[in-house]
Amino acid sequence: MCPICPRRHPSARNEHGARINQCAPNGPTPAPVLMVLDAPDDNANRQGLAAVGKLGREVFDCYLPAAGLGRDDVRVTYAMRCQRVDGEAPSLNEARACSEYWLTGPGGEMEQTRPRVVVAAGPVAAKVAVGRDESGRMDVPTYHGQLYGKVEYQRGGLGGFGWKFTPPAVFGAPAGAVHLIPTNSPASGFAGSDLMTHVLGDYAAIKHILASVERGEYPHALDQFPFPQYREITTPVEVAAALHPHYSATRGRWVAVDTETDGMTGPPWCLSFSTAPGTGYVIPADARPAVAAFHHAIQPTTNPYQRVLLHNALFDVEVLGRLGVEGFRWRDTMHTAYQLGNQPQGLKPLAWRLAGMEMVDYSEVVRGPSIPVVRAWGERVAQAVAAAIPTKLPRKKLVLEPHHKFWKKHAGLLGRRMAKLEEWQLAQLFPAEAGGDFPSPWDWWEEREPNVRRALTLFGGGVMPAESIVHVPRDRAIAYAARDADATLRTWWALRGLVRQLARKVPPAGDRPRKTW
Ligand code: SF4
Repeated sequence: MCPICPRRHPSARNEHGARINQCAPNGPTPAPVLMVLDAPDDNANRQGLAAVGKLGREVFDCYLPAAGLGRDDVRVTYAMRCQRVDGEAPSLNEARACSEYWLTGPGGEMEQTRPRVVVAAGPVAAKVAVGRDESGRMDVPTYHGQLYGKVEYQRGGLGGFGWKFTPPAVFGAPAGAVHLIPTNSPASGFAGSDLMTHVLGDYAAIKHILASVERGEYPHALDQFPFPQYREITTPVEVAAALHPHYSATRGRWVAVDTETDGMTGPPWCLSFSTAPGTGYVIPADARPAVAAFHHAIQPTTNPYQRVLLHNALFDVEVLGRLGVEGFRWRDTMHTAYQLGNQPQGLKPLAWRLAGMEMVDYSEVVRGPSIPVVRAWGERVAQAVAAAIPTKLPRKKLVLEPHHKFWKKHAGLLGRRMAKLEEWQLAQLFPAEAGGDFPSPWDWWEEREPNVRRALTLFGGGVMPAESIVHVPRDRAIAYAARDADATLRTWWALRGLVRQLARKVPPAGDRPRKTW
């Protein structure tokens, strides 16, 4: 790969007109830790050596000591060893091609360094490290500063259950042979002192991870409730029973609430709530008395200490308002995650990171069951088009049904479009099985011109059905909705712990240095 890479050409120059040099790794071989950065900066390019200049000083004098590592413990290299001509970050394919030659190839860096731990210090390096199959799952904002791998709750020996941690294959090394710790890029610390604090936090976390690994422990939050209790409730009595233990508990003033709608913009489908970790209740939107009972129970006049927890309140408050649930006091866990600055803001990555909860993505849940519904709609369209439009379409004069009067305005365009529709192969566009790489019907719908969408709506007897939870089998939809509320509650307790930790780091007002002017 390297001999034909365009960056090898002697005339290759970067955006400042400097020659592009290949950067050699920096540090001893073998070394227990291999640190892989994304791509060289200008200093590294000039000297042809990894991690030199300002970045090198940060890495070796600041970050690595925070991780309890010395210069002799770490070898530093890049996922892509040459700068890009435009100075931008390398694409995944470029970095992968370079790494497959220099890092994982015969006699490459992995063979020479024989590391026990790989620190993938940047989004590109982290994605390349886990290989093609896992790279879609790897997300540095979610996994930074943590030992990366999969955790499953499995039946262990003697009939018991236990946690199983599966480390990934890292830069071609067999799974389990090398530990992978993704981190924020050290260079991101230059963008602001707040980001520098986060990078430093990652390296402080590495110190604990390495110590835990030495002790044979798994240094990550574990799902404390692997068999949660989620169920649907439809009556005011059930709502009261679900809330009652909550009111008597000492920490019970928080109730986490989530909502689901039919598609992204459709009517509310349910509200879900959780009052204790590992539990979740779902009230369908059409169970009006139960919804009203819940509304009453969370009013400050009913319980002055009551607080509602939401994740992404901008969405949920509006949906709850449409259900008639309003006037309550709320906190948003997404705000708290944002204010902490080093946490992801999505509920799923947050729940995995802080509570060890494996969550399923919304589109993973709804896409499969929604496809047959869209197919049925598409077949209706195809039949209606075939019936309404003759095979040989008159060029100028389009035969219109009386109720299609508005077409006259757009007859020219619609005539051409409808002719194309006749050739529309629905089976190809919407394959029966969910998953795989196929054009999303919903993306396809969004890309149509308004006239065509209007015509399709008429032929199909309505707009294309949205990707929606209403198409999902009931028990699966209930489990999904309840888990979101459960995750909101569990992440809240973890976030509060982080906020308290942070507060302890800020000296009390009396200890702060006084202004002397
Ligand atoms: S980017 Fe990688 S593959 Fe391309 S010339 Fe540089 S070292 Fe070789």
